[in-house]
Amino acid sequence: MYTMDYFSTRGEAEHVSSATAILKGLASDGGLFVPDSFPHLTIGEIEALVPLSYEERAVRILRLFLTDYTEDELRGCVERAYGRTFDDVRRAPVRTVGDLEVLELWHGPTSAFKDMALQLLPQLMSTARKKTGEQDTILILVATSGDTGKAALEGFADAEGIRIMVFYPNGGVSPVQRLQMVTQTGANVSVVAVRGNFDDAQRGVKEIFGDAAMAEELAALRTKLSSANSINWGRLVPQIVYYFSAYADLLEERKITEGDAVNFTVPTGNFGNILAGYYAKRMGLPVGKLVCASNANNVLTDFLQTGIYDRQRDFYQTLSPSMDILISSNLERLLYHLTEDTAQVAAWMTELAASGKYDASRLLPALRENFWAAFADDAATEGEIRAVYERTSYTLDTHTAVAYRAAEDYRRATGDTRPMVVLSTASPYKFGASVLHALGEDTAGLDEFAQMARLKTRSGMEVPARLAALREASVLHKRICAKNDMCTEVLAFARA
Ligand SMILES: *Cc1c(COP(=O)(O)O)cnc(C)c1O
Repeated sequence: MYTMDYFSTRGEAEHVSSATAILKGLASDGGLFVPDSFPHLTIGEIEALVPLSYEERAVRILRLFLTDYTEDELRGCVERAYGRTFDDVRRAPVRTVGDLEVLELWHGPTSAFKDMALQLLPQLMSTARKKTGEQDTILILVATSGDTGKAALEGFADAEGIRIMVFYPNGGVSPVQRLQMVTQTGANVSVVAVRGNFDDAQRGVKEIFGDAAMAEELAALRTKLSSANSINWGRLVPQIVYYFSAYADLLEERKITEGDAVNFTVPTGNFGNILAGYYAKRMGLPVGKLVCASNANNVLTDFLQTGIYDRQRDFYQTLSPSMDILISSNLERLLYHLTEDTAQVAAWMTELAASGKYDASRLLPALRENFWAAFADDAATEGEIRAVYERTSYTLDTHTAVAYRAAEDYRRATGDTRPMVVLSTASPYKFGASVLHALGEDTAGLDEFAQMARLKTRSGMEVPARLAALREASVLHKRICAKNDMCTEVLAFARA
């Protein structure tokens, strides 16, 4: 068996094991950890996934990257992550909706796709803590545009030796997302609203990670910072699994035969989910195009079409708030894999920080070979929810609707009729008001729970039990801070 090491996208000096990469979150130079090679699966090995459960499929993929974990450790992690909390035994089922295949990634405890990774990350992290003999408390800092925060809180609540602090943009998340977070129980959790948007919160967290004085103060408190944001390698690697799993499901249903290429459309924000699809492709999964779907914050659409990344543009709060992002952090990993040049990546990231822009147009041929990009504004998103509902009786959430629309755009523009899997990232119940509005319902005067009841009538889908239970839950977290005060909040929590 080989050993897989990890180093920073911005310099190859520091080589670490996967356990260390997962515990640290971010490399010392501010870059993101990347594996030193891509493992490869043959078509035969992919076919061998067909009769396996999701958990077994996960172990087959994870062991290729997490070579310092034993197979028993991985099996334990995966079973604890997906075994009890998912409401579908297939964990990530594929379902035909109209002419496309929809991969439902929201059967976990918070009804959004972040659970696929964030149920597993705490397991990988506490195993890593034991493996490396770490004695200090690990403090997880999370900036969230909505779904990550709750999924991380749910995954880490009461985890041994780990505490978690979540910052969300005040007014920038849906009412249900907010309720899910502020009612979180657990002795090791804290939730704070930031006066600013998601990028402000994310920048605040990144600054804290880079602050030497802060690290010293925390060290005195026997605390080390880490990240559960999608920049953590332990977030990315679980997401590779469901691309293989979806392919295995299509094989099983004889919708494809082995070796057939499949396209995937991914509703994208931080570029984590779609990057996992790129990894799957590099590992030998027959992937045609990866279609990157954005909302009105279409910085990635422009980037994939021109090679120029320019975050200097208006920021919109849209109906798909988990994609309201202008700095897609995981793109840095793609830049590395396309160039294998850490100095070049570091230079682009310096430019981005200094001027809000960088020119990677020399990568355009490679970008075009792997990706296609489109965006849908709010009107198109609502139109898509209504049109798909009328045609198929299936109810899409706002994020998935952006993707479904982009998938149709792709087919129309290119004539490519290969099977298309649309990644469905949230239950429609998580964005109930927007979905009902798109379906022509008047929600004035209906609270979140009356909306859930109305959506149940329209969609015929069960209300997720955990969402229904929010009605009785008490609000435990009421703090709001200015975007420049996040340091103070972290120190206060670390001392408490
Ligand atoms: C986080 C999220 C996305 C975007 O995923 P990235 O990995 O950030 O690209 C899309 N949809 C929903 C519902 C999400 O929670």
